[in-house]
This record gives sequence, C-alpha cells and structure tokens, in this order.
Amino acid sequence: MSILVYIEQAEGSVKKTSLEAVSFARALSDKTNCGEVVAVALGTVSDAELSNVGTAGASKVFHVADSKLDDGVIQAHAEAVAQAYQKVGAKTLILAKSSLGDAVAARLAIKLDAALVSNVVELPETANGYVVKRSIYTGKAFAQTSVTKENKILAIKKNAVDLKTDGAKASVEKVSLQIADTNFATKITSTDKTTGEILLPEADIVVSGGRGMKGPENWGMIEDLAKELGAATGCSKPVSDIGWRPHHEHVGQTGVKVAPTLYIAVGISGAIQHLAGVNSSKFIVVINKDPEAPFFKAADYGIVGDAFEVLPKLTEAVKAI
Ligand code: FAD
Repeated sequence: MSILVYIEQAEGSVKKTSLEAVSFARALSDKTNCGEVVAVALGTVSDAELSNVGTAGASKVFHVADSKLDDGVIQAHAEAVAQAYQKVGAKTLILAKSSLGDAVAARLAIKLDAALVSNVVELPETANGYVVKRSIYTGKAFAQTSVTKENKILAIKKNAVDLKTDGAKASVEKVSLQIADTNFATKITSTDKTTGEILLPEADIVVSGGRGMKGPENWGMIEDLAKELGAATGCSKPVSDIGWRPHHEHVGQTGVKVAPTLYIAVGISGAIQHLAGVNSSKFIVVINKDPEAPFFKAADYGIVGDAFEVLPKLTEAVKAI
C-alpha cells in the first residue's frame, strides 16, 4: 500500500505547498507504516525538479508529461490523479489546500468514493479510529474529524507542516494515461496578470499597508521593502475601497486570504476582519505608531513607531544583508 500525493506546479516549478504535502505524507507513512510515498506531477516539469521532490519525502514521482495538463484544467487533473491513485493502489491521497487543490479534491472525492478532509493541520490520530485535526472559522478554532471511509483525501493547510529537506532524490517514472478529451472541455486561452510577479495568495512574504500610510503617494515605501524581500504587496479593505490600491490586494475576511511565512503589516489597526485573512501566516510583524493597536496581540514581533521613519530604515537594513 502507498500514499499518493498530488503535486501542483507553476511554470515548471513544484509549489512549496505541495512539498509540504509530501512531507506530511512521509510523516503519515512513517507513523502508520503504510509504505511508499508516491507523488504524481502533471504537465511540463523537468526531471531534475521532480527528483528534488525526494528531499521532502517521496520515493517516487509519477510524471504525466502531457503539456495539455500544464494549465491546471480541473476535470483533466482529477481524472489523471484518479488513474494514478488506482495504479499505485493507494488508500490515501494527500494534497495542498489551494484553489486548484480544492477543486480537484472535490471531484476526486466523488470519483474515488473517498472522505475528504480539508485544512488539515496535524497528522491523524490513528490509535482509536482515524481522527483528523483541521482548522475552521478562518483559523479561529480547530475541529477533530473522525474519518470512517477506506479511501481518504487530506488537504493540508499551508504552513501547517515543517518542510522536510534531507537532500534525497526521488525516482521519476514517466506515465502515460488515457485522459478522454471530454475532460478538456475548458481551456485557458490566455492569462493577463493583474498584479506583479508575485501572486498575493501564494506569496511567501507579504508587505501590507493600511490607512496609516496616509495616501497612495506613500506606497513607494511599501513597494521598496517588498522588492527587497521578494514579497507581494497587500492592503487593508479601506485602502482599496478609497482607491489607493487595487481591490485584488485587499486582504481579509472579504478579500484575499494569505498564508505566507512572513506577513508585515504597516499602519493597519488589526481589526478582526483583517486578521481573518492573515492568521494562517507563520510570522506576523506589525509596525504601528499606536502601542494599543489590536494587531500587536496577533503579532510575533512588533515595532511601535511611525511607518514613515521605520520603513526606510527597515528597507536599508534588508538591503545591507
Ligand atoms: P484604521 O482602522 O484607520 O487603522 C489605521 C492604523 O494605522 C491605526 O492602528 C493607526 O494607529 C495606524 N497608524 C496611523 N498612522 C501611522 C503611522 N504614521 N505609522 C504607523 N502606524 C500608523 N478590513 C480589512 O482589512 N479586510 C477585510 O476583509 C475587511 N472586511 C470587512 C467586512 C465587514 C463586514 C466589515 C464591517 C468590515 C471589514 N473590514 C475589513 C474593515 C475593518 O473592520 C477595519 O475597518 C479595517 O481593517 C481598518 O483598516 P486599517 O487598519 O487600514 O485602518
């Protein structure tokens, strides 16, 4: 028996969240003695990139190198992963929680007659049944979910797992699958980026500004720091409502939910609706001139100070590293 992991890739690079899913699968396999961790990757990815999946804990990668799968067509991905699952003889499928992952997982749950648990944050308890801990209410609570189906799909929350990196290599096996044309009923014909190079929902570092930045003319300071850190930029809702920043940068309950390793909030008060979009971040740094700003309660590190003095100094300090 094996565990199968669905790997997502973007322009030939395996996503970090998928490597986290592999690490989770490895730890689950070690804990439950359920054999090999096999990953399945779809579309155009180099063998070198795929063999590096071994460092996170997969012993083998099935590669379906059909370029029609590059675009993440949901039905086709679900069909390919379902076929790989049968081929491997797996009873558990692990994937990263993401917009593509969610869509594929929902279809797979039906195709494989599997139980689907999303937002998983810990290895399942298996001593008394199979109980999975998952994050609910945008990270404000946890639920223990008992899973009784034989086939299981676990979607792992970003940053919930320590990435395993032991330098091991996975063997890469080219697999050709029969994926009917009906699975390619939709096709992405072109994409226009509305943001810079780094997409906010997937960014590893986010620098975000609030009303404390006083106006759009001051956003150069946020962008300078973001550029030095290789970060995406975000903002609070009022900032996008007023039109200082585009709506797709608005972070929070009614905007984008982010889960970066580092979220830097500048001049944002920390209202509960904003926190709902950022509380999956691994580390939160808050810069605010008001020591009583609620955001400090959610922060790992805080700087009480004027953003207009702190930001240039911080950017210079990062440049100097
Ligand atoms: P403010 O509350 O005005 O805070 C500005 C902060 O900047 C203050 O803490 C101040 O001390 C600090 N500051 C001022 N000057 C400086 C300076 N020079 N240097 C450093 N700090 C400074 N909000 C969201 O962000 N996302 C959402 O998804 C969202 N959804 C909502 C949904 C609903 C139904 C409702 C009712 C509200 C929602 N809101 C959302 C709005 C939310 O309640 C807050 O009003 C909003 O987050 C506040 O934005 P802000 O922190 O930028 O502004």
